[in-house]
Amino acid sequence: MKQYDIVIIGGGPAGLAAAVSAKKNGVDSILILERDKELGGILNQCIHNGFGLHTFKEELTGPEYAGRFIDQAAKLDIEYKLNTMVMDIRADKVLTAMNREDGLFEIQAKAIILAMGCRERSRGALNIPGYRPAGIFSAGTAQRLVNMEGCLPGREVVILGSGDIGLIMARRMTFEGAKVKVVAELMPYSGGLKRNIVQCLDDYGIPLKLSHTVVDIKGKERLEGITLAEVDSKGRPVPGTEEYYSCDTLLLSVGLIPENELSNGMGVEMNPVTSGPKVNESLETNIEGVFACGNVLHVHDLVDFVSEEAAAAGKNAAVYVKTGVGKRSGGHDIVLKAVDGVRYTVPVTINPEHMEDSITVRFRVGNVYRDCYVSAYFGEERVIHRKRQIVAPGEMEEIKLTKEQLMQYADLQEITVKIE
Ligand SMILES: Cc1cc2nc3c(=O)[nH]c(=O)nc-3n(C[C@H](O)[C@H](O)[C@H](O)COP(=O)(O)OP(=O)(O)OC[C@H]3O[C@@H](n4cnc5c(N)ncnc54)[C@H](O)[C@@H]3O)c2cc1C
Repeated sequence: MKQYDIVIIGGGPAGLAAAVSAKKNGVDSILILERDKELGGILNQCIHNGFGLHTFKEELTGPEYAGRFIDQAAKLDIEYKLNTMVMDIRADKVLTAMNREDGLFEIQAKAIILAMGCRERSRGALNIPGYRPAGIFSAGTAQRLVNMEGCLPGREVVILGSGDIGLIMARRMTFEGAKVKVVAELMPYSGGLKRNIVQCLDDYGIPLKLSHTVVDIKGKERLEGITLAEVDSKGRPVPGTEEYYSCDTLLLSVGLIPENELSNGMGVEMNPVTSGPKVNESLETNIEGVFACGNVLHVHDLVDFVSEEAAAAGKNAAVYVKTGVGKRSGGHDIVLKAVDGVRYTVPVTINPEHMEDSITVRFRVGNVYRDCYVSAYFGEERVIHRKRQIVAPGEMEEIKLTKEQLMQYADLQEITVKIE
């Protein structure tokens, strides 16, 4: 059985940044396993610009952004296998993978970095009544068809869900000559970034209907139209508000699900809110030497934060391999509690002895809050109280904690993060 110090599952932005960072932190024996035919992950189909403003201070397209990391990985001679699907990972860090050249094979790793990204929620998860005609796609599938396969899925489009991929596809389909009639969103707020609503809908006069959903689908062979209705505060359609839109295409942008079947299989403890692993300050899961980063950990809006998080995971995996010491040994864990509007935090625990000089705690809120404060309480004491004009579920929030700050609270058991 082949052995590597660090095996990374997924060659998207998270896997690449983790590999580059691990190598720069002194580990040579690294292998990336990627099921696709090229590195770069989902960014290969995101040909619009706006990537890399934080990381490179430039506006890049998705493939350009991924290209920067692919180049770095090549310069550092990082080994990778394409068209290789990881089928199983055991808690003793033996991976089973498969490709056409090697067949089914096993690899023993000292450390593993989970970077499998996420997939889109499909129609099956939505319970929309009506037939199942052709013409209903997830927004990401349509993005791949248009940007990579050169096919236009349809000419008259309705989009359900206002996640970022749906918003970006509204603009993309318009550029390609299709008529996007409306974007409908079940919630009373958009699930996407404000900048995408302005640049992808407002700039092209595409209406966004909040608190609306699809209640009927017309068409047997090919989609002919859909019926939208307003929903009440419980998400139930309000009778009498139905509106019919003729269309040949319905795009669904109704959420992303982290790809954690492998993580579950190996016994990684999951956070039911994020559907990603629970990790500590080192992005290490409950299994020592197994780290997670990127969309497999929690769904990100901006790839820049994926790269930043993945670089930390790569560094921590390198430290683990070099010292052979599990970050979980020694010191004590402070538990982060998400309450009052805060849905979750990543990480879920912080061990001040093991953390870097500072740590960014990322989280999402469960509703839109205006004129509020993001607060963190160390036990009973309010230590962070930051004014915000608006916070919304579509935009990831963060607080920064320093080691110096935490070391002053020797017996601290719990930090509560909330919206006030
Ligand atoms: C359809 C879509 C469109 C998006 N558009 C934008 C956008 O416009 N702007 C933006 O900032 N962000 C966008 N995002 C989010 C952005 O792409 C992510 O922030 C970023 O790509 C996440 O990086 P990642 O490496 O975690 O995941 P991914 O880029 O998804 O990479 C994960 C990789 O893991 C591989 N993999 C998964 N399972 C296995 C396995 N078992 N064996 C081997 N390989 C495996 C996959 O093939 C994939 O290459 C989009 C996401 C999606 C899903």
